[in-house]
Amino acid sequence: AANAPGLDAYWMPFTANRQFKAAPRMLASAKGMHYTATDGRSVLDGTAGLWCVNAGHGRQAIASAVERQLTTLDFAPSFQMGHQAAFDFAERLAAIAPGGPEAGLDRVFFTGSGSESVDTALKIALAYQRAIGQGTRTKLIGRERGYHGVGFGGISVGGLVNNRRVFPLLPGVDHLRHTHDLERNAFSKGLPAHGADLADDLERLVALHGAETIAACIVEPVAGSTGVLLPPTGYLERLRAICDRHGILLIFDEVITGFGRLGTPFAADYFGVVPDLVTTAKGLTNGTLPMGAVFCKRAVHDALMHGPEAVIELFHGYTYSGHPVACAAGLATLDIYAAEGLLTRGADLAEDWAGAMHDLRGAQHVIDIRTIGLVAGIELAPRPGAPGARAYDVFVDCFERGLLVRVTGDIVALSPPLIVERDQIDTMASILGDAIARAA
Ligand code: PMP
Repeated sequence: AANAPGLDAYWMPFTANRQFKAAPRMLASAKGMHYTATDGRSVLDGTAGLWCVNAGHGRQAIASAVERQLTTLDFAPSFQMGHQAAFDFAERLAAIAPGGPEAGLDRVFFTGSGSESVDTALKIALAYQRAIGQGTRTKLIGRERGYHGVGFGGISVGGLVNNRRVFPLLPGVDHLRHTHDLERNAFSKGLPAHGADLADDLERLVALHGAETIAACIVEPVAGSTGVLLPPTGYLERLRAICDRHGILLIFDEVITGFGRLGTPFAADYFGVVPDLVTTAKGLTNGTLPMGAVFCKRAVHDALMHGPEAVIELFHGYTYSGHPVACAAGLATLDIYAAEGLLTRGADLAEDWAGAMHDLRGAQHVIDIRTIGLVAGIELAPRPGAPGARAYDVFVDCFERGLLVRVTGDIVALSPPLIVERDQIDTMASILGDAIARAA
């Protein structure tokens, strides 16, 4: 721990830090597309931090807006009173809401993170069903290999078995089969051709539980943290139709896909499928200050605000809901996205991106490559007896050579800031390709 003196004294619990403890990688600063490590090495950011720094690091306009807000109104309660930055931010978000103006997803609830957005959306869904006289609808459907953060709602609907094993969970949760069918779709460019019928798994759950018991179904349009799993062509449309047929709300978790990741403002825009609620965070403030937002259909909002007393009286809100400084950061972020066309820039780069990543086909160990917008998942064959070890070695090697990638199991994921240049895409593919070639 030579470059991380004294860290043990402040040690932080839980798994995310275990590997770091063995080999600390300390980041000192960041600007544009690069991190600088404490040993002075420049590291190209292939992951936009944690899928969040979409406009690149160290944006002066955000820093200035944050300072202005901090010295004007640093905090304001969001109960029984308001402040301009939150109203401005909500209005600006409504103007770019998922699915465009016709979708009507223009009511915004502010949270402090992706996990809080998920819990909030699940609560809104349950409260809405009650408000429209469907109080028997208390069950929630998630999906295997879904990731929805680490709140109790998120781990319950989430599809990571390890995250569910240790705790008592929300009752009445079931999971759709996941859509990942490597055998039939390996190395397909764009959306998998096979597997749309997996959406019919929701019909199975409806038959099993009874439509009158199900409030909502939550999915990531593109599963990110569990390995960049793309929905088969037509899958999300089919899920939407089944939800409509049975009065089930559809929630898109766009914590990763929101704010330009796929080359459209939101995944709802990319797929042309309009959910009832959309959870966001990360790119909302360019990763600078912790914040999330839930987009809510007007009809859902109105039922809650004008519904039965029990629902109106439901308390939900956080100390940091609509935090003025986070709102200021978010407003400055939206300005940058608009001025630089970043919410659609991924569409211009997607083909080059896919080309560079799919060129890694044929490299040893690589058993699949998946790309969409400015996201890639490169799946490696697990090292026998040591699942995840090979991808972890690739991550370490890339970092040593100046590229930050993310590993999840045996999948290497990339999601660069949306300001990435074409030559940087080539650099990423080249460093990654070398690391994979060296991996045992
Ligand atoms: N949902 C999705 C789809 C995510 O990718 C994440 C974070 N990776 C979350 C929710 C949780 O967000 P947070 O870590 O901000 O709580």
